[in-house]
Amino acid sequence: MKKTYNPDTLCVQAGWQPKNGEPRVLPIFQSTTFKYDDSDEMAKLFDLEKSGYFYTRLQNPTNDLVASKIADLEGGVGAMLTSSGQAANFFATFNICECGSHIVSTSAIYGGTFNLFAVTMKKMGIDVTFVNQDATDEELEKAFRPNTRCVFGETISNPGCEVLDIERFARLAHCHGVPLIIDNTFATPVNCRPIEWGADIVTHSTTKYMDGHAGTVGGAIVDSGNFDWDAHADLFPGLTTPDESYHGLIYTQRFGRAAYITKATTHLMRDLGCIQSPQHAYYLNLGLESLHLRMRRHCENAQAVAEWLQRNDKVAWVNYSGLPDSPYYALSQKYLPNGSCGVIAFGLKGTREDAIRFMDRLKLICIVTHVADARSCVLHPASHTHRQLTDEQLRQAGIAPDLIRLSVGIEDVRDIIADIEQALA
Ligand SMILES: *Cc1c(COP(=O)(O)O)cnc(C)c1O
Repeated sequence: MKKTYNPDTLCVQAGWQPKNGEPRVLPIFQSTTFKYDDSDEMAKLFDLEKSGYFYTRLQNPTNDLVASKIADLEGGVGAMLTSSGQAANFFATFNICECGSHIVSTSAIYGGTFNLFAVTMKKMGIDVTFVNQDATDEELEKAFRPNTRCVFGETISNPGCEVLDIERFARLAHCHGVPLIIDNTFATPVNCRPIEWGADIVTHSTTKYMDGHAGTVGGAIVDSGNFDWDAHADLFPGLTTPDESYHGLIYTQRFGRAAYITKATTHLMRDLGCIQSPQHAYYLNLGLESLHLRMRRHCENAQAVAEWLQRNDKVAWVNYSGLPDSPYYALSQKYLPNGSCGVIAFGLKGTREDAIRFMDRLKLICIVTHVADARSCVLHPASHTHRQLTDEQLRQAGIAPDLIRLSVGIEDVRDIIADIEQALA
């Protein structure tokens, strides 16, 4: 869609552009397959000589239209939907890594991504060095190796709410000839567009704010098209040397700026098949149509709740980057001037059991393994999402054992605060 439109307009209108007489609303192409008149045409599709649909595991029009809305919102050249955020982060890294490769990742990342990197990808022979995102450039430099293939971080970390200095990490990655991959799930492109700050690839768990209603699990990968793979051809042979599974095609030569995202589709989706169903993509698109409105309300409500918690003498600490005394306030002002997200990390004075008792007494705010949807909810990472991590790994991931993750919804903020007040009492 026209680049001059503002993000709010893209949320509502990008993607599906009906022609004369076509449905106004994005249709669900609920079909595994697509018909062609002659076999030669089909053969050209298989050889990637022509673009077109032939099997939904590789591409489906509904999915592509929703992906193109997300690409427009993030300012990328292309995007793909995946079955989950986990699949998005796996594909985003594995698309340029293989056995023997190395990744530099910040340690303050989502627990599922931490496990993916530290356990599963390690078994595949891919090593990850976890770094403190607030370390000095000199310290971060030490993490790079000759076999480093990418740098990974989250705009706003889940669950610690640390804000990443994207520009600094992009500079470090580019100095070593590798791309920066940013998981932008919490900020969403409404509040931050990492590509504008130098990120090369952006990923999402669309399960969170993008869907927004806790209805569908999904993910997305956006390619900025900005990384020059050929300038570092020896590091990325998968993109810059002939692919025998497509008759010797070279991705960067055939697809130019869209080489990375095309390979993710033609290779990883073909072979690993973590697709989003067209039905889910349709729901995701409904969520995207109101993303800009919901994000504004999430941020307003979370700011009010964070300020209220900070004034309460039963609360030991609050981490919300919108609070002026947050260590991430300056970064937040730079990267998230219109607000960060609805997620607050805080701790109560008292024991770990006091934290659990407080959560059990909440009435409106529910305990759920979820975050970032319309309904307010809480979670205690040390006893829920991150329970497989040791105390040392918890600390490394920036998670205090008493950390309560409160995801502030879009209800009336007076009711949210009243619920917290009665539970604290
Ligand atoms: C939830 C989440 C993921 C994983 O996404 P799923 O859709 O649950 O697979 C990845 N990154 C972040 C930041 C998340 O919050």
